[in-house]
Amino acid sequence: MVKAVVGANWGDEGKGKITDMLAREADIIVRFQGGANAGHTIVNDYGKFALHTLPSGCFYDHTTSIIGNGVALNIPILFQEIQDIVDRGVPMPKILVSDRAQMVMPYHILFDQYEEERLGGKSFGSTKSGIAPFYSDKYAKIGFQVSELFDEDLLKEKVERICETKNVLLEHLYHKPLLDPQELLETLHRYREMVEPYVCDVSSYLWNAIRDGKDILLEGQLGTLKDPDHGIYPMVTSSSTLAAYGAIGAGIPPYEIQKVITVCKAYSSAVGAGAFVSEIFGDEADELRKRGGDGGEYGATTGRPRRMGWFDCVASKYGCRLQGATDVAFTVLDVLGYLDEIPVCVGYEIDGEVTTEFPVTSKLEKAKPVYRILPGWKEDIRGIRSYEDLPENCRHYVEFVEEQIGFPITMVSNGPGRNDIIYR
Ligand code: GDP
Repeated sequence: MVKAVVGANWGDEGKGKITDMLAREADIIVRFQGGANAGHTIVNDYGKFALHTLPSGCFYDHTTSIIGNGVALNIPILFQEIQDIVDRGVPMPKILVSDRAQMVMPYHILFDQYEEERLGGKSFGSTKSGIAPFYSDKYAKIGFQVSELFDEDLLKEKVERICETKNVLLEHLYHKPLLDPQELLETLHRYREMVEPYVCDVSSYLWNAIRDGKDILLEGQLGTLKDPDHGIYPMVTSSSTLAAYGAIGAGIPPYEIQKVITVCKAYSSAVGAGAFVSEIFGDEADELRKRGGDGGEYGATTGRPRRMGWFDCVASKYGCRLQGATDVAFTVLDVLGYLDEIPVCVGYEIDGEVTTEFPVTSKLEKAKPVYRILPGWKEDIRGIRSYEDLPENCRHYVEFVEEQIGFPITMVSNGPGRNDIIYR
């Protein structure tokens, strides 16, 4: 069976933890989109890890970790990450890299930085990992596929051609040092050496695995609201964050994705710019940020403090619908135990009218949150394993959210560890 683990919101919902947990029962875990721009934080028997490119199931002996064709593959970062986990005692993961994955080039990272610099105050708040320039090049058909590393003539010719166009921009738009084709070619030779043992026709591999009845997890990055089509465009990421894209980014038939586990966090957080209707500020936000996640809500990749807010039923209902949620995993509920009362955003007021439908960006900018205040439970719920043992107000919170979003919450996460989970 194929299951996707994806986010309903702005990312950082705790997908890494849920994937790591579900990977116990899985054979193969596939990253299908995104790059090293966001991170998953995982706490398990080996310690605490921030993964950026490796699938979150790479901590088990029995799993194969796959970088799908939809990923923005940064080869040095991938190999650094493998080295880091192995150095910390994790067995060398079994890795496969799609021959159709494209590579983040050193100049993508430079262009990302230069463009943010050029935009100044109007920047997108990019993580400067080269993701937007990478996907732009992919769709402009000037990207480099892993398979192309193994065709020297093609590679040489393409490197020359691409340096020529990139250098025009570097010289005239950004006024920065030019690319040297020879140096770039040498870099690509190094990438070839590193990646060669792992290159695989992934779609064919997965086709056979599905036929053999293997359990496969597709791991998404970020969440619905960062999807380039359905998110808060243009403050989005550059590849689709939806489970549907899992079929494309892994290379499997869409009908094989039978479960879409959509991860929703019990409050909201976001990184980068863009409308965030239930955002909170000041001491209230600082307190939640400090207590949030596992050791505070700070970016796993960038260390940036995350923007904080109350749970947003409008955004989450939409987020779950676009993912096609079969199951909702409701995470980080334990963090809310300090509050006397918990506001929940149940509607958006736009031009005097209240709606529960998530609008397009221009309307979203005008939306004001409509809150319902729920009573807190003022208890530490970590360690509880059965739903019935949760405090009444806590169950009430879960059930209220479930009713508002209209998708079943089948898992409640009450701690960062693998076993901190309550099945309903
Ligand atoms: P991802 O990108 O969706 O995987 O999310 P992140 O890893 O960026 O953020 C989730 C953070 O919350 C991490 O620090 C996790 O260890 C932590 N976390 C996940 N689930 C829970 C939970 O149920 N309770 C607490 N306290 N922390 C959690």
